[in-house]
Amino acid sequence: NTESLQQQDNQHYLHPFSDHKSLREQGARMIVKADGVYIWDSDGNKILDGMAGLWCTNIGYGQKSLANVAFEQMNELPYYNSFFQCAHPPAVELAKEIAELAPPHMNQVFFTGSGSESNDTVLRMVRHYWNLKGKPEKFTIIGRHNGYHGSTVAGASLGGMKPMHQQGGLPIPGIHHIPQPYWFGEGGDLSPEEFGIQAAQELEKAIQDIGEDKVAAFIAEPIQGAGGVVIPPDTYWPEIKKILAKHDILLIVDEVICGFGRTGEWFGSQYFGLEPDFMPIAKGLTSGYIPMGGVIVSDRVAGVFEQEGGEFYHGYTYSGHPVAAAVARENIRLIKEKGLVEYVKNDIGPYLQQAWKTLGDHPLVGETRGLGLLAALEVVQEKEGRVRFDSDLDVGGMCRNTSVSNGLVMRAVGDTLIISPPMIISRDEVDELITKARKTLDLTMESLKQ
Ligand code: PLP
Repeated sequence: NTESLQQQDNQHYLHPFSDHKSLREQGARMIVKADGVYIWDSDGNKILDGMAGLWCTNIGYGQKSLANVAFEQMNELPYYNSFFQCAHPPAVELAKEIAELAPPHMNQVFFTGSGSESNDTVLRMVRHYWNLKGKPEKFTIIGRHNGYHGSTVAGASLGGMKPMHQQGGLPIPGIHHIPQPYWFGEGGDLSPEEFGIQAAQELEKAIQDIGEDKVAAFIAEPIQGAGGVVIPPDTYWPEIKKILAKHDILLIVDEVICGFGRTGEWFGSQYFGLEPDFMPIAKGLTSGYIPMGGVIVSDRVAGVFEQEGGEFYHGYTYSGHPVAAAVARENIRLIKEKGLVEYVKNDIGPYLQQAWKTLGDHPLVGETRGLGLLAALEVVQEKEGRVRFDSDLDVGGMCRNTSVSNGLVMRAVGDTLIISPPMIISRDEVDELITKARKTLDLTMESLKQ
């Protein structure tokens, strides 16, 4: 039962991304089963999972064929590595299938166990590439404030989450951060278009400060996820592309959230017309059913690795794990069979966005925004002048807790509320999500008045 599970949890389980003191006081919500877009807790509450777990169960819960292929693969070949000139069919087939979905100039995949490992891999590949090109001084990678690229030492360093840096001497050397293109929070009186150019020019400024010959790469999410579903103004990416081309700097587009359909394209890079050198992937690759990540690499980079030779001293025991690869293949097959990417682009994405926008008339809402199946709203004290609540009140946290008690998982980043539901969500389920989100706002407003 819930109480005994919570007791054991308190005694033995150190949770990721948790305040252990308050967790122990409140007790964790025990999630015991899931189906479609719903999860159930150990008290029998049915909750609409507006976040697809951690932005990952794109295919939804309860897809039995994923379990079946895992079972079959475990019986056939449960494990083998791809170090030292070995390979196995599931990883080889998966790499080919991913390359077919990626932009045409990206045809090789390096497998990892998670998004964080993918970004560690990227950092090492970038430096390997410039070493092979005879330019080891091209060493610095530029990331963005509030970017999230994982929790390993390199991932957290590439990311721009201040609290993560403050807890342990991060970032590691050779990483620099520039402001994010967050118009609602930082745009002031500029139009979104003007602000997009200004935000992109921060990259130019940083390159001038550091020196073009020392900058190796720029890393960014197509849409910043954990930073608050920050959708860049239309002018941002085209300007960034120009700057990178001018200075011969590699582009890393972190597709861990946007990849596998969330924007209505297979990858966010395709939505924004980007030509990355690296695309770290994870999450939607297996819809979270089993851990797996990877880095999709451009022909120009992979070509240098091949021409120059020399071992790349990097890899994981579980790189290309056969069971994970089999599950990923089945997941991709299902996404294709169900036409989910097109569904997000032409049907459920626009439907959700139009419904989400209606929340903008609520007194607590300063802005709604979204794209595909990602959306955010800004909770404000006063709409005029975008006045925020005192951060000590943690109104975002209040909304998140009210929402889950009311049957909807939403995430809070400060006072920004976020959703990223499974791609199989129906119109009726979107309606339910919106009704519950509005109720969350109403209930929060009532408590704030008390
Ligand atoms: N990159 C992005 C954009 C992410 O959102 C995340 C996780 O949320 C990661 C990397 C890290 O992935 P993982 O948690 O699988 O290590």
